Amino acid sequence: MRSATIKELLSSKNLLQEITIKGWVRTFRSNRFIALNDGSTLNTIQCVVDFENFDEELLKKVNTGAALKITGTLVESQGKGQSVEIQVSALEVLGIADPEEYPIQPKKHSLEFLREKAHLRIRTNTFAAIMRVRSTLSFAIHNYFRENGFNYFHAPIITGSDAEGAGEMFRVTTLDEKNPPLTEDGAVDYKQDFFGKETNLTVSGQLEAEAYAMALGKVYTFGPTFRAENSNTSRHLAEFWMIEPEMAFFDLDANMDLAEDFIKNVISYTLTHCQEDLEFLEKRLLDEEKSKPQAQRSDMPLIEKLKFVVDNNFKRVSYTEAIDILKNCKPNKKKQFKYPIEEWGTDLQSEHERYLVEKHFNCPVILFDYPAKIKAFYMRLNEDGKTVRAMDILFPGIGEIVGGSQREERLDILKEKIKELGIDEKELWWYLDLRKFGTAEHSGFGLGFERLVLFATGMGNIRDVIPFPRTPQNAEF
Ligand code: ATP
Ligand code: MG
Ligand code: MG
Ligand code: MG
Repeated sequence: MRSATIKELLSSKNLLQEITIKGWVRTFRSNRFIALNDGSTLNTIQCVVDFENFDEELLKKVNTGAALKITGTLVESQGKGQSVEIQVSALEVLGIADPEEYPIQPKKHSLEFLREKAHLRIRTNTFAAIMRVRSTLSFAIHNYFRENGFNYFHAPIITGSDAEGAGEMFRVTTLDEKNPPLTEDGAVDYKQDFFGKETNLTVSGQLEAEAYAMALGKVYTFGPTFRAENSNTSRHLAEFWMIEPEMAFFDLDANMDLAEDFIKNVISYTLTHCQEDLEFLEKRLLDEEKSKPQAQRSDMPLIEKLKFVVDNNFKRVSYTEAIDILKNCKPNKKKQFKYPIEEWGTDLQSEHERYLVEKHFNCPVILFDYPAKIKAFYMRLNEDGKTVRAMDILFPGIGEIVGGSQREERLDILKEKIKELGIDEKELWWYLDLRKFGTAEHSGFGLGFERLVLFATGMGNIRDVIPFPRTPQNAEF
């Protein structure tokens, strides 16, 4: 048994106690000082070995990356920066790490290199810090919803409806490749994918969450979602986690209020509970920034940026107002937007979103009331007949972090919309039932968890904030 984590020992006042710890070697200096880490904290504990008392062959195995069991006495540290250290009395090498082969040696590794070692990169301080922040954020999310009267609902991963996913879905199939069922024209009948029914991996749990909200009031899902995005951006994954609250009797304003309060709350929780890791990530970023030209440097250190989000109101701007701003602005001294805004009704590109957030308003922005034509079928039509009660939350350095809306609760209007889009009503029979039986105003949103982790850690690429990223051709681990 291990008596305590390194995190606990480092703040322990119980000097002279005999303890046993297990962990991995970060460094072994002068055949005397082992820096041991066990993942409980960013820090290592110094374990002092009197090498005269230990077998030479044994000490040769104490290399970076090796797993050790150490027994010793906790004493006051002679070294700087740490209050305690361990005077080692017994040492066992549980697992060696050959220095010729172990890739995570104590030197600076590029993030690209580490992506190829996704199973070992977590042993670096950077990735351990990111993943502890990620873990803390997930608990903060569950806490927030629990404290605010939500029920945690588990949306299915395999779904039968593809109304939402237009072209972005992964098919789930049980078809016998050698002897597949055929359509009348002799083609493979994918409609029979799942023992006779067409099925896909979910792109969002929203439609199902609506059913649950219309019975339990306030619900949320927090699970993996899948999109067959064949693109390589720093913001998109093929498998990502989404947080999707759905609330009965909420209009769009209440939805925006909740989303803003939610984001502030979980970031604030993380500021309190991950101080050490955030300080480390901030310092790492500052070092990185030094090598960049002045103009590309971020104007705010990480922690200040997080505090700014917690302490300031998000700017709420209608799509129409945003278009006016974008039509009349000069995004850059030299060039126009790559896609200049020609008219009301066009979808915004990330360059437009970034301009609004990073140049014009300089704070998180909630854009709302989008043209119906560029948004999904289920969004609540406004009285003007051409905009819908949709909202996107845009974050500095990230772009879209949330997409949400008030849902269309009126059966006739929803049916009309479905028909217009050529969707088969039969596929959505159960969704339409929700409007037939006890329909009411309701709203919700989807927040991409990895985009939130990106923001909270200051990292630049979404591949670095999820344990084993799934991007095109990247599913080795
Ligand atoms: P984007 O415009 O960035 O492609 P989207 O509008 O397609 O996003 P939504 O369908 O609105 O995305 O999904 C809700 C949220 O899920 C987004 O606001 C974003 O935070 C996140 N998200 C969407 N697609 C991805 C993806 N491929 N990888 C990671 N997160 C994603
Ligand atoms: Mg998308
Ligand atoms: Mg979008
Ligand atoms: Mg969206």
